[in-house]
Amino acid sequence: MNFAVHPDKVIYLDHNATTPVHPDVLEAMLPYLREYYGNPSSAYRFGSQIRRAIDNARQQVAALIGCEPREILFTGCGTESNNATLASALLADRDRQQIVTTSVEHSAIVKHADTLARRGHPVTLLPVNSPGQLDLDAVRAALSEETALLSVMWANNETGTIFPVKELAEIAAEKGVPFHTDAVQAAGKIPLRVSDLPVRFLSLSGHKLQCPKGIGALFVSARARFHPYFIGGGQEGGRRGGTENVAGIVAFGKAAEIALAHLEAHAAHVQALRDTFEQTLLSALPDGAVNGDPSSRLPNTSSLRFEGADAEAVLVLLDKEGVCASAGSACTTGSLNPSHVLTAMGLTTDQARSTLRFSFGPSNTPEEVRLAADIVAAAVTRVRSLRAPGPVAIHTQADR
Ligand SMILES: *Cc1c(COP(=O)(O)O)cnc(C)c1O
Repeated sequence: MNFAVHPDKVIYLDHNATTPVHPDVLEAMLPYLREYYGNPSSAYRFGSQIRRAIDNARQQVAALIGCEPREILFTGCGTESNNATLASALLADRDRQQIVTTSVEHSAIVKHADTLARRGHPVTLLPVNSPGQLDLDAVRAALSEETALLSVMWANNETGTIFPVKELAEIAAEKGVPFHTDAVQAAGKIPLRVSDLPVRFLSLSGHKLQCPKGIGALFVSARARFHPYFIGGGQEGGRRGGTENVAGIVAFGKAAEIALAHLEAHAAHVQALRDTFEQTLLSALPDGAVNGDPSSRLPNTSSLRFEGADAEAVLVLLDKEGVCASAGSACTTGSLNPSHVLTAMGLTTDQARSTLRFSFGPSNTPEEVRLAADIVAAAVTRVRSLRAPGPVAIHTQADR
């Protein structure tokens, strides 16, 4: 392979898209790629001994969210965890076939919900206000005897808005509705404890947490009914068929251990970087605006809009300087559709298209962030100045 960009030449501010693998995580998984390749389901010791590494990882992931190890299933990714939960919910009770979720979920929920709606399941996408928060009375009103699942993310990947998971889980419990939360972005950034909450399902993904891609987890409360999505062998207590991604599972365990041990330090570090970045940038470009809920936002996420500066054009200039960031959601980059999250928050198409997302991680430094803020300010200024004066819209009476 020939790579155009060397990692040393990059200022990586896109940790909500994926993260670099922590060196200790890589170290922990290597033996399971190199020598310990046995199948954990085999009867001979060369295989079965590997089960202990999986058990250990399950304890480490359980500790991160405060649950019992037996309540953790390993999956292939956060997308699978989300999809499996929706599918299971619809199999639990024939009379409960309605899905209630929000208009700002990750595509692994909203697109699945959309597919279900096209197949005839009633789906309710709850609206959000301009900081991206839900009206709790509207949530309560949306739940009925027919609701199979309420799914609300713990924190939004694009804006960092944190949802009141405790209140939401309690509302669901009052109505007898199982509650799922997509905690992929919250894990490792804010404390997560499910044991004291009536949360039934919770999704995690390794690669947002300094672990390699292709490993996820699903918390299934011991009190919940779960119908497997991957039907096959008896792995994961019969709840997820498929030979285990042993190295990925071991890596995820280590990454969870690191995330838990350094939770407060990492959060303080990324928040200081994020705040310096926003202050520097917004003092250079005072008309910039922050998207999301300033009173309840992940410490590492900065969604900023600079009206009149097309985000895709700014990203091209940032790319030339080695700064990695994203426009809206990583999954929609390259398409012309404005982010569904930002439009649900009431932003106009132009406001959504002039939004950039920066997300910081434990390995970022203050020097990088100061340099990046200067580069972004210059790029936004340049894109604004290059903007050709477009055709002047003339509204006639007939247009209205
Ligand atoms: C990244 C992400 C996912 C998907 O996780 P994968 O492991 O990439 O499938 C789901 N939800 C949120 C909020 C995410 O940020």
